[in-house]
Amino acid sequence: MTLLTPNSPTAELQALDAAHHLHPFTHGAGLAEKGARVVTRAEGCWLTDSDGNRILDGMAGLWCVNIGYGRSELADAAHRQMLELPFYNTFFQTTHVPALNLAAKLAELAPGDLNHVFFASSGSEANDTNLRLVRTYWQEKGQPERQVVISRWNAYHGSSVGSGSLGGMKGMHAQGGMPIPGIHHIDQPNWWSEGGYATPEAFGLERAQALETAILEIGPEKVAAFIAEPIQGAGGVIVPPETYWPEIQRIAKKYGILLIVDEVICGFGRTGNWFGSQTYDIQPDIMTVAKGLSSGYQPIGASIVTDDVAKVIENTEFNHGYTYSGHPVACAVALENLRILEEEGIVDRVRDETGPYLKERFESLADHPLVGEVKIVGMMGSLALTPDKVTRAPFAEPGTAGLICRERCFANNLIMRHVYDRMVISPPLVISKDEIDTLVERARKSLDEALEQLKAEGHM
Ligand code: PMP
Repeated sequence: MTLLTPNSPTAELQALDAAHHLHPFTHGAGLAEKGARVVTRAEGCWLTDSDGNRILDGMAGLWCVNIGYGRSELADAAHRQMLELPFYNTFFQTTHVPALNLAAKLAELAPGDLNHVFFASSGSEANDTNLRLVRTYWQEKGQPERQVVISRWNAYHGSSVGSGSLGGMKGMHAQGGMPIPGIHHIDQPNWWSEGGYATPEAFGLERAQALETAILEIGPEKVAAFIAEPIQGAGGVIVPPETYWPEIQRIAKKYGILLIVDEVICGFGRTGNWFGSQTYDIQPDIMTVAKGLSSGYQPIGASIVTDDVAKVIENTEFNHGYTYSGHPVACAVALENLRILEEEGIVDRVRDETGPYLKERFESLADHPLVGEVKIVGMMGSLALTPDKVTRAPFAEPGTAGLICRERCFANNLIMRHVYDRMVISPPLVISKDEIDTLVERARKSLDEALEQLKAEGHM
């Protein structure tokens, strides 16, 4: 066959895609009918599609391109590593330089005594590792009955059977036999949608105390761990009330359960610190990382664990691992990405300069008639759309307003994502103030157009 190129006609690219490519989280027939948008190139915060449109990427790919697109240093690092050692495994008493360097670098960056790293190729794989890791930990500690992992509804921890079960997405659980046994979900700290009867502070405490209730119901001697994202990302950028995390931390300590903090989105600067755990003063026993670790230039994820967890696990042979655990090219690229994040002061700039600027500009959308709540921390934010700001009413058909708004964003050459009726952003951390202005202007225009359409179609 003749391969197509980025310069091939859009219709041809779309037709070949529709004929053979099954897309994740996509209604395939619907996509084939409309035709996929074909992204061909990217630079900084901007994508180019096969029709030559320039699109501002308000989502950093999928929450991952933290240093922006087009950094040749990462391509050079991959090139060098491919020539020197394109692959070797880290099983059976072998190692290689990129993996050992990256593990040491992550130990240096991660807070507290999170000093040991088990590599994977994605966030899903790393959370699967965590599930087996915490159960093995308690087995080795002589408490094998501690097997249950508590998670939250509307959490996202990945798409494999283990990580998808840890997640709390009911639409995912409805397909393919999830959740697997031994996972218990509690309610999320989503004040806007679920907490209107109380102050955010009281609601945050209540939702954290649901962890204690669950532990007592299950039996503390049976609970292995609690897993949560500092800020729920794919659930709609749900920023927990300030009272939430201190109470979770207290409860986890009280019952001696392991705390797995899923930093796949929040890690590597997204919240204005290196890790969301620092933003919320959380002390994890295990941290899941991926995405921003390589800024998405290579698939890589990891579980970073404390000295205590490592000591227990190292007492046995952990019968677990992936061919690409610690892939040398992925590790070399991640190291270069971390060097850039650090040496260019990108995380500090998000905390001190561009993050506060984005917050001010993004929060200005609160006056829009469609916008009920605006939440933003660092470079992740969300707008809750509502037909009635005062009563915080949901739309009659959840997701319709969000979808319309997302389509308007697309038409205005801005990538924003919708999670039901929450519009979310997570731009590259290198976004400039001018680009932030463009993002907010395009978002407002898209909201205006969505409002018109919702009225015209009788949704409000
Ligand atoms: N955890 C969180 C918090 C995530 O947001 C994601 C991906 N969106 C994952 C895990 C899964 O990562 P991956 O898609 O790399 O498997």
